Amino acid sequence: MALIKCLEPDCTKMVSDKAEYCPECGFPIAATLKAQWEHSPEGAAAIAEEHRREIRLREEKEEAKRIEREREEEIENAKKLLTFKNIRAKLDE
Ligand SMILES: [Zn+2]
Repeated sequence: MALIKCLEPDCTKMVSDKAEYCPECGFPIAATLKAQWEHSPEGAAAIAEEHRREIRLREEKEEAKRIEREREEEIENAKKLLTFKNIRAKLDE
């Protein structure tokens, strides 16, 4: 077993060349090394592209969740404001 720099260019983690995935960024180490050994740069590139696509999808999902949470907060605040206005209206009667 040898330590290699993670195959994801943006990641600086040292990982085992036997690792299935980079523990830091999740890059598929084993599959990429296998493609390289088989002299298949297209295969390695496809694996890297698939990994980036998964990360993008995850980020998009998290962004969607964040927006959803913000919307729920806004609704909650609007409800509180309405309750407050109703109470004031009653007090003013
Ligand atoms: Zn990594």
